[in-house]
Amino acid sequence: MPALRLDPDPRLHAQAEGERMHALLAELYPLGRSLTGRGLRATLQRLDAEAPLTIDEIASGTAVFDWTVPDEWTIDEAYLEHESGRRIVDYRAHTLHVVGYSRPVDRWLTLDELRPHLHSAPEHPDWIPYRTSYYKDDWGFCLAHRQYEQLPPGRYRALIRAALAPGSMSIGQCLLRGDMSEEVLVFAHTCHPSLANDNLSGLVVAIRLAAWLRQRATRLSYRFVFAPATIGSIAWLALHFSELHRVRHGLVLSLLGDRGPLNYKRTRFGQAAIDRAATQVLQRQHPGGRIIDFSPWGYDERQFGSPGIALPVGRLTRTPNGEFPEYHTSADNPDFVTAASLGESWLACLRIVHRLEHDLRYRNLRPYGEPQLGRRGLYRSTGGYQGIPDQQMAMLWLLNQSDGGTSLIEIAERSGLSFDSLCRAADDLVRAGLLAAETGTS
Ligand code: ZN
Repeated sequence: MPALRLDPDPRLHAQAEGERMHALLAELYPLGRSLTGRGLRATLQRLDAEAPLTIDEIASGTAVFDWTVPDEWTIDEAYLEHESGRRIVDYRAHTLHVVGYSRPVDRWLTLDELRPHLHSAPEHPDWIPYRTSYYKDDWGFCLAHRQYEQLPPGRYRALIRAALAPGSMSIGQCLLRGDMSEEVLVFAHTCHPSLANDNLSGLVVAIRLAAWLRQRATRLSYRFVFAPATIGSIAWLALHFSELHRVRHGLVLSLLGDRGPLNYKRTRFGQAAIDRAATQVLQRQHPGGRIIDFSPWGYDERQFGSPGIALPVGRLTRTPNGEFPEYHTSADNPDFVTAASLGESWLACLRIVHRLEHDLRYRNLRPYGEPQLGRRGLYRSTGGYQGIPDQQMAMLWLLNQSDGGTSLIEIAERSGLSFDSLCRAADDLVRAGLLAAETGTS
């Protein structure tokens, strides 16, 4: 297997990946995902075809830290029909039409009796909003506000043929073993039905990153987790608690397909290696976005960053949740996300991984003054690196900072030099016997 290096023209590769990810996203879009159930399992099965997953099925009623795994929700059919026989909404037309985790119902109601069970978004009258009722015994339909306003008087039949019964919650995992047991955790949530950016974009970028990495030799191990938001990440953490010490870096992936710039949200630690790696990649190679400080809100980074777990897990998104009007509506569809954005997000992940892979600490083996580079052919060798004028400076910075405790990412940060120049210079200096990588944990 080839060692982990980026392709000479990664952008070209990202473009092809972007097309592939968009096609996969469009294929997954109609599936009726939820915290549990058939749509979730079918999604994991499809992801498994890209990179093999192992599936944990966690039984309903299982206590996971402060939470309990819910009953399994299975929906077969759902519609709202006027007494005239006209069908107002149908789950088959759009999974967002039914409030997630609705309990079964088959009743005739007047319009006034029906209204408390209907959800629409007046501010965007053509879009269907996304609603769930996971922990409250309820049922409901969602529809475009324009349609809601035109509902004729009369009686309506509300039918939701669904089952809420003990079953299990499915979580998919892909573990890729590298030379070291230390892991990079990549998490994407799986519980949203027909919504594209939130969070099919995270699923497709994560699984294609796994597919790419599994073809290559890596220093670190990689663990991709596909689980429902909140209850899923908490259940996964509870189930795999004894393995968490291996996780050294983590990323939550979501909202990676819209046209906005890439943003990174820091871990609760703020200055972890993943924070530094992602900041460098975004600032130098994918500029225009923001580096956002940690807050205990958003996606599952807050579970990974809770005090009893305390893993350095940051989050990569394009436009953050709640900052685009299409969020949690039917307008977040495959047309809202682009192959180019997905491809760029994938490439940014790869560049972050590249930094983590090469983020070694070196020791200068000739630390008394500056070693004589010319005698070793290293002074002239700068001429051989056309287009990398940093190369000489990279050697000097490396020799100066390599005290065994400073990592390559930290040297890149302090020197302002490109990470690739430092990688190449480190290779040259190791070959010349001037530098040695420290072994042990990163
Ligand atoms: Zn969401």
